[in-house]
Amino acid sequence: MAAELIPVANPRAQYLAYQSQIDQAVHSVLDSGYYVLGQEVATFEEEFAAYLGAQYCVGVANGTEAITLALLAVGVSPGDEVITVSHSAVATTAAVEMAGAVPVFADISLQSRCIDPLKIASLVSERTTAILPVHIYGQPAPMPEIIAVAQQYNLKVVEDCAQAHGAEYGGQKVGTFGDAAAFSFYPTKNLGALGDGGALVTNQLDAADRARELRQYGWQQRNISTTAGMNSRLDELQAAILRVKLRHLDDDNSRRRAIAERYRQSVDGQKVSFPASIANTLHAMHLCVVECDEREGLRSYLENEGIGTALHYPAAIHQQPAYSGKIRGCHQLHNTERLYRRHLSLPLYPQLTDQQVERVSLSLARWCEK
Ligand SMILES: *Cc1c(COP(=O)(O)O)cnc(C)c1O
Repeated sequence: MAAELIPVANPRAQYLAYQSQIDQAVHSVLDSGYYVLGQEVATFEEEFAAYLGAQYCVGVANGTEAITLALLAVGVSPGDEVITVSHSAVATTAAVEMAGAVPVFADISLQSRCIDPLKIASLVSERTTAILPVHIYGQPAPMPEIIAVAQQYNLKVVEDCAQAHGAEYGGQKVGTFGDAAAFSFYPTKNLGALGDGGALVTNQLDAADRARELRQYGWQQRNISTTAGMNSRLDELQAAILRVKLRHLDDDNSRRRAIAERYRQSVDGQKVSFPASIANTLHAMHLCVVECDEREGLRSYLENEGIGTALHYPAAIHQQPAYSGKIRGCHQLHNTERLYRRHLSLPLYPQLTDQQVERVSLSLARWCEK
């Protein structure tokens, strides 16, 4: 009598929740005869910038390229070092290398699980030109402290907001603190397309102009490449879908937080620990990642109960074969490594029913009582 599996994420449920609006938007694009970098993209860029409180938004093909283009747009050059974290999607490091730059890893704080601002200064070298914090799981990184270090050493700051659409620090949306910021619209993200998509945002006109050139063959004007560029365009279908979903983002994020809070109440103070609540921040709760000394036991118990779990991620970036031993800072990542022995992601998406949330909560509580 296996109960119906509750998945960790469910992009189809997110489509069905807004199906008629999305279908209508898609059909109107199909009818328009214009499919890449058109009016839907331009309007989405305006609406997303306005939502964040940023000046400029540039739609691109995916979140990884959004990071690369953001780094290039703020002036990071080949051979420059970028201080970032090993606790992220591999995409963060891949994006630095795609820009021709060299990633350097700082450890995280156990509380926020984001970059520890106190660990940055000792890693700054002559070649360092930027800091790339990641608002991991939707938790805003401590931006005022990060900006203070950046100012002290004259570094640019590019925020990786791929998991943090709508998260806030001190009432201000993440993505508006640094020189530029990057978002992913991969289908499972808080603001997800139904395919690949990404955007960078900035308050600096020259960075926005540079990103617009780079995303399309270095064109300043059609068919004239004034600089060497690439192809990283957002298409009209994804932009139209994102415009629908953006209208629901705040409600979706509130629902995510409410679900995580229900889970927390079922086990608080016991064998499973929840993300610390950090003053002055609004968590976007992209993922509900708990920590547990007996992670494997908890994981198999939940899986037996029909409750999906996942590891974000199974290994830190410096533990991946492609990067192992190759990145400066990789021997000083004790907090990162501790987290990777203990973390577990619980089911979390806005369309989870109250009944499903209850099932997860009760299973967690039962395991804690064992
Ligand atoms: C998803 C993600 C990315 C990459 O986005 P893609 O759209 O998959 O290229 C980068 N950084 C983080 C933290 C992510 O979660």
